[in-house]
Amino acid sequence: MSNPVFGIDLGTTYSAIACINDYGRPEVIRNPDGAETTPSVVFFESDSQYVVGKEAKNGALVYRDQTVSLIKRHMGTPLELEFFGTTFHPETISGVILKDLVTYAREATGLDTSDVVITVPAYFGLAEREATRQAGEIAGLNVVGIITEPVAAALSAGVRTDVDKSLLVYDLGGGTLDCTIMRISADGVEVLVTDGNRLLGGADWDQALFDLVADKFRQQALLTEDPVDDEDFAQRLLTEVETCKMTLSRKEKASIKCTFGTAVELVEVTRAEFEAATEHLVGQTVDIVARAMAVAQQKVPGLGYDEVLLVGGSSRMPMIEAALQERFGWSLTKTEFDLAVAKGAAIYGQGAAAWIDSAVAGSTGTDVATVAHPALGGQAEGRQLLLGGKAVTISNVLSRSIGVRFVRDGAGGRPEPFIGFLAHAQESLPLEVEQAAETYDHDVTELTVHLYEQMGEAESEVVTDNREITPDSGATFYGLPRLPKGSPIHVSLAIDAEGLATLSAVEPRSGQQLRITATLSVMQREALEAATKIVAGMARSD
Ligand code: AMP
Repeated sequence: MSNPVFGIDLGTTYSAIACINDYGRPEVIRNPDGAETTPSVVFFESDSQYVVGKEAKNGALVYRDQTVSLIKRHMGTPLELEFFGTTFHPETISGVILKDLVTYAREATGLDTSDVVITVPAYFGLAEREATRQAGEIAGLNVVGIITEPVAAALSAGVRTDVDKSLLVYDLGGGTLDCTIMRISADGVEVLVTDGNRLLGGADWDQALFDLVADKFRQQALLTEDPVDDEDFAQRLLTEVETCKMTLSRKEKASIKCTFGTAVELVEVTRAEFEAATEHLVGQTVDIVARAMAVAQQKVPGLGYDEVLLVGGSSRMPMIEAALQERFGWSLTKTEFDLAVAKGAAIYGQGAAAWIDSAVAGSTGTDVATVAHPALGGQAEGRQLLLGGKAVTISNVLSRSIGVRFVRDGAGGRPEPFIGFLAHAQESLPLEVEQAAETYDHDVTELTVHLYEQMGEAESEVVTDNREITPDSGATFYGLPRLPKGSPIHVSLAIDAEGLATLSAVEPRSGQQLRITATLSVMQREALEAATKIVAGMARSD
């Protein structure tokens, strides 16, 4: 019998956890508040106690300095936050959220397992994926898989591998938009394109509604002072507009009672007004879909879409379906919006567990193909993943371009560093690329390679437009035979199906081959161990 695996959707604004129930179906586990989704907000009550979820979100108004939200936006960055004299990295804070989810899931189900599959947005780069895996490790969990949210959504929508089809997943969550195009066939799931905007999501709709309500309030109450300058008023209104926004998904109008000083007004907003105030945001999401479709067309000319899945809490807004229908003429498949991803992770988790079982049993069933799939927690490629008794391949694309920092002669003959891209966004994984280079200095005995990942939407040679994903000091090859300036060096980069990068350099004259596996994590081993201790020493406050 497989070890049960929890599937976790670690969201920017909300998270959810699911498992496979006794009937073999994925089921989202309710939190102690009785809700299926939990706000991804952490309140640090003391140096050993935390609160995650609704209570933390509500408390954010009063305890601003002890509360963290939207931490997912900082995953893989060196952000440091301090609470009660302890330094927390984004991985550690996400670790606290994961610990809380798993704690209540274990209590609710009685399942005694630490095995989890965690989802990440498709556009997450290598560093953020690794940061997410580390967050799991910090929470004391055994991360058996990291999969992308659209693939999880497709799994939960019951994609069948016996019918070939092309699928587009439009996922508008609380903080991000993700658009993924994939092909599903008997061979498995092949991601063709992934695109999105990591700073566009439900929170932007909240802000637009906030501005609209504040404007109306100012006019209705004839205020001379601006209420939004008052932090308490602003925080309260920001919470209330989210509820109001959700009401507008169901009803044609909604109202908010605004109080400022002696002024009290009931401010009414119609759905039409809200839609007019957010038309530009919807337009941006539709443009991204069109951009993704154009890239997919280049890869597979004449590609059509058999199904378009709507995912993410913000896709509940009727304006989303209307805009996609109007622009592309699609009929859309609604999923369970904010639950689909966690359920898909649980399905994948079961597949991973089934694989582990079959591998342990030494089974090589004839209907089982060898697969290379994106992330089975550090397992090598070429393993088998069973879903619903069938083998499934999930092949991914590189979400951001990867390059090496080279040096060339710049203005006045001064050395000018620049990024030379070796692997480009949207290329299928696994991949291997080579780049001919030359030594820039004289008498080179050591060569340090700095690997960078594209940060903006387009590739840029400017070093600061990219982010280093090797440790600060780079990956160094030692023992070169005092190479003169201009000696050729062949640098090659291999990224496996799980996103693990291996750099090699060959010095052709001596034939000397150097190989290094790049560490892509932002947190180094010692910091990781320290963070694990911190989270292990903390408990939910009752
Ligand atoms: P997710 O990250 O997929 O859980 O989505 C969270 C986002 O969905 C938040 O911005 C919520 O405010 C938003 N959301 C959830 N339910 C609704 C709804 N009924 N109407 C509009 N937005 C919603």
